Amino acid sequence: MRRVSIFGATGSIGQNTIDLIARDPDAYDVVALTGARNIEQLAKDARRLNADVAVTADDTQLDHLRDLLAGSGVDAAAGQAALHEAAQRPVDWFMSAIVGAAGLAPSLNALQQGATLALANKESLVCAGSLMLATAQSHNARILPVDSEHSAVFQGLVGENMDAVERVIITASGGAFRDWPIEKLKDATLAQASSHPNWDMGQRITIDSASMFNKAMELIETKEYFGVAPSRIEVLVHPESMIHALVGFHDGALMAHVGPPDMRHAIGYALHWPERKPLPVERLDLAQIGALTFRAPDTVRWPALRLAREVMERGGLSGAVFNAAKETALDGFIGGHLKFTAMADVVDAVLTRMDGHGGHIDDKMTLDNVAHVDHLARIAARAEIKKRAG
Ligand code: NAD
Ligand code: MG
Repeated sequence: MRRVSIFGATGSIGQNTIDLIARDPDAYDVVALTGARNIEQLAKDARRLNADVAVTADDTQLDHLRDLLAGSGVDAAAGQAALHEAAQRPVDWFMSAIVGAAGLAPSLNALQQGATLALANKESLVCAGSLMLATAQSHNARILPVDSEHSAVFQGLVGENMDAVERVIITASGGAFRDWPIEKLKDATLAQASSHPNWDMGQRITIDSASMFNKAMELIETKEYFGVAPSRIEVLVHPESMIHALVGFHDGALMAHVGPPDMRHAIGYALHWPERKPLPVERLDLAQIGALTFRAPDTVRWPALRLAREVMERGGLSGAVFNAAKETALDGFIGGHLKFTAMADVVDAVLTRMDGHGGHIDDKMTLDNVAHVDHLARIAARAEIKKRAG
């Protein structure tokens, strides 16, 4: 039996992971499941999968979680220290699916114990890519990407030599506002930004897809994970979300990964790697689909893509600044304090403010320094949001 933990078990990726694991319960020994809200779901899954421990990030919910787990044999725990402890319990496979920078510390914990890390939390690579890779290497741990695009690139590279790779193309659906007139974008509402044409995901990544901040994060993720030069990474708008990425080789070949927009493919690939096992995803009927379409990304519509390029060139801790500013701007938009299009203005302003001031961005990449610039960037972002409010 393989020991597995799922961090962010109550979220969209977490629930899809549980869906796969629950189909073959005898194959897995579930160690820890964690969530921040939705305690009922957490307790239900922990009972069903007979986990060793269920942890909520919210310490006010400990008694509630204990009540829900009474008599089940599953331990209940809460708060940051409990999350940290649970992330250190030895496992073979660790799903990192917390949303946001809060997912970084558990990702690192998993690598430090030498687990295979299925990485959905893209913020880990955006904020601390070199630290993640160095930690994996020094502990003989492996990172397997669980983002549809990066899983697709990873699969496209099996058996290939990186020296033969000319470019990597990640696709983008274009999100909710792909076809909106640009001048209307500033008035986009939370409800409009929270609905994705193709993918069913958590609210934050759905809004990030509409603003293209999700693709911006994925550009950085591609550079960090695969070590591809920024000039060789392209974004291609592909409204049908059937091709997730393409790898271009120096003989002119493009290898495309085609599949339905269902995260259980990327999760299942990482779960069974290096084997391929049958997965319960739709089989595409290309004759019925008929046509796939593509267009170049519009950087006026999506300034987040330009900002990502600046971050990739800048390096250091600028990814952590970018992510923290983006998360704070997103909170501002969700809270009704910031217009949709002002999110990119806030991130741009924070990157400018924090570059060269006190040298923080050039500090050594340690977890403490990432946390420090994250903290400063959130303060700067809140100030920028205040300037733009009302
Ligand atoms: P979600 O919002 O549906 O779930 C997030 C999970 O993290 C939940 O379990 C939530 O309770 C927990 N959580 C939230 N804040 C927390 C905190 N501060 N501390 C501890 N736990 C916390 O998110 P999701 O859509 O499942 O995305 C998870 C991660 O996977 C994100 O990094 C996202 O970018 C990435 N991802 C998601 C998809 C997708 O299809 N949903 C695709 C690719 C990558
Ligand atoms: Mg993706």
